[in-house]
Amino acid sequence: QALNDYLDLKGNIRVFCRIRPITEGEKFGTLRPVVAADSCNVLLRLSESKTKHYCFDKVFHPHSSQVVLVTEKLTAEVFSEVEPVIKSAVDGYNACIFAYGQTGTGKTFTMEGKPDCPGIVPLAIEALFKQAADSCHSFLFTFSMLEIYMGNLRDLLIPQTAKSTDSVAQCLSVQKDPKGGIEIDNLVTIRVSDFNQAKRLYGLGSRFRSTASTNSNKTSSRSHCLTRVSMTCFDAPERRRETNKLWMIDLGGSERVLKTKAWGRRLDEGKAINLSLSALGDVINALQRRKSHVPYRNSKLTQVLTDSLGEDSKTVMVVHISPKEEDLCETVCSLGFATRVR
Ligand code: ADP
Ligand code: MG
Repeated sequence: QALNDYLDLKGNIRVFCRIRPITEGEKFGTLRPVVAADSCNVLLRLSESKTKHYCFDKVFHPHSSQVVLVTEKLTAEVFSEVEPVIKSAVDGYNACIFAYGQTGTGKTFTMEGKPDCPGIVPLAIEALFKQAADSCHSFLFTFSMLEIYMGNLRDLLIPQTAKSTDSVAQCLSVQKDPKGGIEIDNLVTIRVSDFNQAKRLYGLGSRFRSTASTNSNKTSSRSHCLTRVSMTCFDAPERRRETNKLWMIDLGGSERVLKTKAWGRRLDEGKAINLSLSALGDVINALQRRKSHVPYRNSKLTQVLTDSLGEDSKTVMVVHISPKEEDLCETVCSLGFATRVR
C-alpha cells in the first residue's frame, strides 16, 4: 500500500535521463563539455553564451552503476529507480519501461546489459520471480518477445531469417477485446516457471534480433524490441486485474532521418521509427495532460501498448543522451521528447 501511495503521489510516469560515458576511443581530440548534470537536472551548453536547462525525476551520470554487489545482493543505481514499477506489476498494474535515444547512446546497454553487468530486463525478470515467491499469492508467468520493424510485428521467439520476416510478420496482428484488453494474435507466448527459463528465452530472442539485423544491414537500431512478461494471479480476488503485463522496450534509434544522409530502404526505416516515436510521444503527452482523446491508433507501437499505457498503468521512460558536442542537435531533440512526455 505504501508503495502504491508512493507511485500515485509521483504520478504514473517517471522520466529519467541517462548520460553515456565517453569511450576511450573518443577521448582524443578537443573535447568541450556540453552536458552538465546533477541528480535531477541537465544543463546543455548550446553555444558560448547560451545554455538550456531540463528537469528529470532522476539523472544517471556516465559513472552511474549498472550493477554493484551489496551484501551478496545484486543491485544497481539504474535498476533500483525502476524497481518500484516492477513491484507495481506484481500488485496488478500494467507497466511499460522504455529506453529512448539516438543510436549509440546506450539503450541496449540499459535494457539488456552485458553478461557481467545485466540490464533492466534480466534484473526485472529476476525481481518478478522473487516478488512472486515472497508473495502469499500464486502466479503464472508467460514470456513473449517481438520486434516492430517498418510497422510490422515479428516474433522474436520464432527463428527466422531476414528474408522470411515479411511472411511471418503478416501472421501477427493486434486485436482488441471488448474489455479494452489488447491481444497479439499468434504471438508465441511461453509459460515460464522460473528465472532461468525466462532468461534463456530472453537470450534466444535477443540473438534472433541481432542475427536478423546482420542479415538485413543492422536493422536493430531501426526497429523496436519489445519484451513482455505477463502475470496471472489466480487466488487474489482483490487485485485490479487477473492478468497484467510488464513491457520492457528497447526503442529504435531516435535520430532524425532527414538530417542523416539516408536514402531508399534506410530512409523508409528511419521514417517509420520517427513516426512511431512521435506517436508514442503524442500518446504519453495526451495521457499526462488528461486529454479526452488519446491517439493510440496512430502507430503499431502504441496500438500494441494501448492497454498498458494509461491511467491505471505505470510508465518509466529512460531518455539516453550522448555527452559529445557533435551529437548536440540530437541531444536537444531527445531532451525535447523527454520534456513533452513528462
Ligand atoms: P544503443 O542501443 O542506444 O544504440 P548501445 O547500448 O549499443 O547503444 O551502446 C553503444 C556502446 O556504448 C556499447 O558498446 C555500450 O556497451 C556502450 N555503453 C553505452 N552506455 C554505457 C554505459 N552507461 N556504460 C558503459 N558503456 C556504455
Ligand atoms: Mg541498441
